[in-house]
Amino acid sequence: MEATKIGNMKELVQEKWQKRPLIIAGPCSAETEEQVIETAVRLRKTGRVDIMRAGIWKPRTRPGSFEGIGTKGLPWLQQAKKLTGLPITVEVATAKQVEDALHFDIDVLWIGARTTVNPFSVQEVADALRGSDVPVLIKNPINPDLELWIGALERVAKAGIKQIGLIHRGFSSYGNTEYRNAPMWHLAIEMKRRHPELMIINDPSHICGRRDILLDVAQKAIDLDFDGLIIESHIDPDNAWSDPKQQITPERLGELLNSIRWRKEDIASEEFHAVMEKMRQQINQLDDELLHLLGQRMKIADQIGQYKKENNITILQTNRWNAILERAFRKGEQIGLTKEFITKYFDAVHMESISHQNKIMNS
Ligand code: PEP
Ligand code: MN
Repeated sequence: MEATKIGNMKELVQEKWQKRPLIIAGPCSAETEEQVIETAVRLRKTGRVDIMRAGIWKPRTRPGSFEGIGTKGLPWLQQAKKLTGLPITVEVATAKQVEDALHFDIDVLWIGARTTVNPFSVQEVADALRGSDVPVLIKNPINPDLELWIGALERVAKAGIKQIGLIHRGFSSYGNTEYRNAPMWHLAIEMKRRHPELMIINDPSHICGRRDILLDVAQKAIDLDFDGLIIESHIDPDNAWSDPKQQITPERLGELLNSIRWRKEDIASEEFHAVMEKMRQQINQLDDELLHLLGQRMKIADQIGQYKKENNITILQTNRWNAILERAFRKGEQIGLTKEFITKYFDAVHMESISHQNKIMNS
């Protein structure tokens, strides 16, 4: 395979940063030189991987487990890059790690979930990044707190880093669930809404913690319009020194990526847009009609309020309200609306109706 010059690497990384879907893959941890090189070669062979990941310093929940090979693994990654042309990303959590990673030409850095939770650590990393133009990916904090995630990206941005991306790796939750880290998709979606300018990729490996549901989570991320995936891949997953249960071989990774239903690239096609536009107009039309009808409904509520006032009757008449709900549940069932939705909808309409009647009563 062709050797790649470091000079071209920056351009390649720029190109990859724009590519959709962006696929990052590699072992949870770099273990030996042979493992790193063989992984890189086999990942490259899949033809699907854009950037290789490898943990050099591993933040482990409990002491005594493998804490990463450390700085001596960085030249192995350099070598892997030279052999395969794959840019490299590693996790950094301290100023020294940033320095070492940059010294060994690591192309993209990522901030791990256990670092994002700690503003002191994030600030230390951000200060060490000042003056560099390396792209940085920021994982969500382990606890479901968007402000911490946003705080981390603000600190990194303030240090002058222009290329920042997000990694959604799920959130830790107490008790056994089917996931190692609960995806809490709504939080990632809210982050996308607040920062539409940032790329966001999904990390099914750390969400699942196991192999059998990786595809489901990856597919869901793609369906939700994530910009890419970061997936752990090991040449001998069962014997990996960290996260053995969730890693897959490069070949299995290739198959997994092939079985994902990617969103169509020709989404720009005129026909697609025309059909969508027509359906959206229908939705707008129906929404207008619903609003108009709700307005009319409130006008009648006003009249009822007036009539009750003249006859000195209370606003809330429980029997009447139960009858309305029962009727709606029955009708809703026939047309495929859930009881939950009907309840929420009627609660909102009812509250609005009461506040209209209240105004009338007190006028
Ligand atoms: C990792 O990517 O190997 C890792 C430690 O992930 P996280 O920070 O999401 O736990
Ligand atoms: Mn891992």
